[in-house]
Amino acid sequence: MSEEQALDGVEKIKLESHYLRAPIPQDLNDGNDFFGPESIQLLKHHGSYQQDDRDVRTERRKQKLDKLYTMMVRTKIPGGKMTSEQFLAELDLCDQLGNSTLRITTRQGLQLHGIPKRSIRETIQRINQAGLSTLGACGDVNRNVMSTPAPYKSTVHQQMLATAEQLASYFAPRSSSYRDIWLTDPDTGEKEQVGQQHDMDTSLAGDEVEPIYGKRYLPRKFKMGVATSDDNCVDLYSQDIGWMAIVENGELIGYNVLVGGGFGVTPSAAKTFVAVAKMLCFVPPQQVQPLAEAIITLQRDHGNRADRKVARLKYVVADWGVEKFKQTLEQQYYGQPLEAPRPIDVTGYDDHMGWREQGDGRWFYGLNVENGRILDNEQQQLKSALREICTTLRPPIYLTPHQSMIFGNIEEEGKTRLEAILRKHGVPLTEDFSTVRRWSMACPALPLCGLAVTESERVLPSMMDALEAKLIELGLQDEVFTVRMTGCPNGCARPYNSDVGLVGRTLDKYTIFLGGRVLGDRLNFEYKDKVPTAEVVSTLAPVLAYYQQARENGESFGDFCHRKGKDDLLARCDGGLVTG
Ligand code: SF4
Repeated sequence: MSEEQALDGVEKIKLESHYLRAPIPQDLNDGNDFFGPESIQLLKHHGSYQQDDRDVRTERRKQKLDKLYTMMVRTKIPGGKMTSEQFLAELDLCDQLGNSTLRITTRQGLQLHGIPKRSIRETIQRINQAGLSTLGACGDVNRNVMSTPAPYKSTVHQQMLATAEQLASYFAPRSSSYRDIWLTDPDTGEKEQVGQQHDMDTSLAGDEVEPIYGKRYLPRKFKMGVATSDDNCVDLYSQDIGWMAIVENGELIGYNVLVGGGFGVTPSAAKTFVAVAKMLCFVPPQQVQPLAEAIITLQRDHGNRADRKVARLKYVVADWGVEKFKQTLEQQYYGQPLEAPRPIDVTGYDDHMGWREQGDGRWFYGLNVENGRILDNEQQQLKSALREICTTLRPPIYLTPHQSMIFGNIEEEGKTRLEAILRKHGVPLTEDFSTVRRWSMACPALPLCGLAVTESERVLPSMMDALEAKLIELGLQDEVFTVRMTGCPNGCARPYNSDVGLVGRTLDKYTIFLGGRVLGDRLNFEYKDKVPTAEVVSTLAPVLAYYQQARENGESFGDFCHRKGKDDLLARCDGGLVTG
């Protein structure tokens, strides 16, 4: 079989697309309210997924109607940093073209849902006019680069954010397709003058167009994050490359580099697995981009292109082992020896919520946004509150890796104004949330994600109600531990290193994972499979009771489960009883 015959179907689509272009322009104007299969794959690289409303799918099928198609449009925001004006532009888009809600992602981006196909060009144009971009927010390229969002006025924080921005810019696709399709007037050929330029040289041929990615781009998505060892809020161990900033005497001297993390898995395919990243080396700050390019091009050349299920970098690292990976990288891609990592590992994690002094006499406020969903409803008008904050106080905004947001540069007198706006709109302050709810996350799942097999965001809040009551009963309400839920095993809300992971397995049933921890440096283990939604909290309750009785001094819930292990927990807690 030739190499081309062995390629996965998506590889052929990318190869024949002429750098992420055809057939999107034709499909855009075909009069249908959906895109064809090739465009659906290519659009991801432009930041958009085609979805359909699964709540009405069966009913529409009965009525012999087509699916109700819409587009999700994701904005890539390095380090989650944006202005109030940019946030307002996204709010306007969700109200005017989308389904009236906006979502903060687990990678510090924003998602618009419910955009009709006819409005996708306008949506992407307006995002770019606001100085943001959707290019590379999804697809087989480097995705949004995460960075610690806390806006402390320290050189270290500014350097980390600058690194994230530099990596995002350097590894964005360079083909002119994005600009030609979305930012060029189809009638006049006039190009939009937008905040973020995507000015690729269209005279280039061959892989000069994409000198890093080539014609087929990467075999799969690629993720990077930047954080200090004492604040692993970006989950460095879940990234393809985690850049762990090493700080000595207040100066950022370089990065310990972690490679090969990844949380997607297919339970029916034994060859797939989740992995935390492995410590590879140390590099000074000026070598971050060259090393990233070496690793990304290694993955371009050696990642599996015949089977997307095993195409992430983690499979190359696992197949080769860290030593062979490092040697190949040094000899064939980086061109020089790599330094051993510094003897430093993650020691802390901060969600950056509540009021913090930012280092220049002003304050920032971390507002917990439950599951990242921004909307107005009868109970609270979060969207209206954010509109008022952005139009009156105009703070810089930082989206957090925990689906929440930070308002920066608040003067002392602005603190009460900000709180009053939130209160006026019925929005709970971070301090009003229980600890367990504040540290929970859920992916969007149903009704729009095409891969979801269970609910996630829509059921976690009520599950939290029950869990809160149980924790109060046990006197554990102040314990910090992470509960992360996803509607399928793809793991978008990073459920595989959390204290409690709830992963959608089949209709209305979850796999419960236990034994990760807030630090995010180890995988949890499968505790029970196919637990019905209604039994999740009652399954966890005896384990929590066991923890309350048998924990060691200061031991977290995840550490306790990790120490006891699956067999002991099942022996003591299965059947709802804590025995012995
Ligand atoms: Fe969709 Fe699965 Fe990701 Fe949730 S984890 S958003 S269900 S792909």
